[in-house]
Amino acid sequence: MNIDPRTEFLVGFGGVSGSTAVSATFEPGTDVEHRGRGMIARGGGCSYGDAAQRGGGAVVHVTADPSAITLDLVSATVKVSAGHTIRQVCQELLKQGWFLPVVPGTSYATVGGCIAADVHGKNHVHVGSFGQHVVSIDLVDGSGVEHHFSATEDPDAFWATVAGMGLTGVIVSATLRMIADKSGWMTETTAMADSFAETMSLMRELAVSHHHVAAWVDLRSRHRGVGVVSAANHIDACAFDASRKSHQLRSPLPCPRTSVSVLGPQRLAFLNAAKVISARRHVGRVGTVAQKRVPIESVLWPLDAVANWNRLYGRHGFIQYQVAIPDGAEDVLIGISKRLATLPVYLCTLKQMGQASLAPMSFPLPGWTIALDIPANAPGLWDALHCADDAVAEVGGRVYLAKDVRMTAQHLPTMYPRLDEWRQVRNRLDPKGNMNSDLGSRLGLLDSFS
Ligand SMILES: Cc1cc2nc3c(=O)[nH]c(=O)nc-3n(C[C@H](O)[C@H](O)[C@H](O)COP(=O)(O)OP(=O)(O)OC[C@H]3O[C@@H](n4cnc5c(N)ncnc54)[C@H](O)[C@@H]3O)c2cc1C
Repeated sequence: MNIDPRTEFLVGFGGVSGSTAVSATFEPGTDVEHRGRGMIARGGGCSYGDAAQRGGGAVVHVTADPSAITLDLVSATVKVSAGHTIRQVCQELLKQGWFLPVVPGTSYATVGGCIAADVHGKNHVHVGSFGQHVVSIDLVDGSGVEHHFSATEDPDAFWATVAGMGLTGVIVSATLRMIADKSGWMTETTAMADSFAETMSLMRELAVSHHHVAAWVDLRSRHRGVGVVSAANHIDACAFDASRKSHQLRSPLPCPRTSVSVLGPQRLAFLNAAKVISARRHVGRVGTVAQKRVPIESVLWPLDAVANWNRLYGRHGFIQYQVAIPDGAEDVLIGISKRLATLPVYLCTLKQMGQASLAPMSFPLPGWTIALDIPANAPGLWDALHCADDAVAEVGGRVYLAKDVRMTAQHLPTMYPRLDEWRQVRNRLDPKGNMNSDLGSRLGLLDSFS
């Protein structure tokens, strides 16, 4: 660990509750050094809250050499550094017709960050979360000891690191499963529903024949309650003719292309509404569907095309309130969304989720997840979210820690009932409490060390 004497002010993607830490870079083989209030790894900084910050401590930046990505076509796995971004890995994989089974909604997250949050994609209901496709993890624990974990070699430590929010140590590298014969193109079906409940039933229906399903629900404009459902499947490379195949597979994924300034003074103003308007143009009306062939990034990472869109919320930033609600409690999810719709909710996305992973602190559970983006200075926001937390905890749901910046410790054991089991393994890997984050201490995740 190389400690740089400089300090830096770091903030999450939502731009709320930043803190100042000593900057460190990671060099495998060097000892983890305890820096007063502890240290935490940081990847792409795409978590919305304070998970990758340690005010008064040290933040270890994990980056990677883009060339060091090794595919093993026989075992259908890829060895990557924790600092590789999903975009770097997918670019390399697509060149040979491969892809990752699970990717989050941004390609700028790193592999380390995706393991640490056990991220989910739009296909969770079919294939589960990121951690379920990790073969092995190399980690330097809080005491500086190097480990190699897998689902069979120290499985407790493996699953405590998956969704462990960086608190078991620094992930150095990992081996991931790949899926074969992907062209980099998808067929996307777009359909519309005019209420929340109908959007959910449309999503269930489309999930039977589509792997990637998500909806944008407009809670704000005059189209309030309209859901635009996007359902997509990879187009297999073998389905392409030779000329198109070689062109599409080699085309690099574009960098963010639309600048925020292009969006004008209305600022973010209603990306949801824009989505509805464009869907109306494309689909026509509620209940009908349209199909087209699109590059994967327009389905999987649509927001990456708009550079710095998170800054449109101004200096106060925004909160993304993302919760998981179990099957059978759909009414609670709809009730929470309607109550929060009295606030300025600019984006609202909905996904169905399937089986949970074995990781004690993993977020997804069988049911639904909803994410609402709200300016952090909206009057009454904090109180409204506390009430929403009560309703979520009461039905066995949970807040997503990778998005959180404001929850209190009160509901944590109810929302994450395997917390103590995770703490025991974490304490074995980091008995002195060297690893910690602002999220960790705000929620008392480490208990005695917080
Ligand atoms: C536009 C957008 C869309 C998103 N969509 C989704 C989505 O669809 N599904 C989803 O699940 N999430 C989604 N996210 C959240 C994001 O995928 C997660 O927060 C992810 O953890 C970010 O990875 P990162 O590399 O940026 O990690 P950071 O934000 O830097 O860190 C996140 C956590 O990972 C830990 N960490 C990072 N690197 C390491 C390492 N090398 N070793 C140990 N711990 C480490 C940090 O300590 C921290 O606790 C989205 C975020 C954005 C901005």
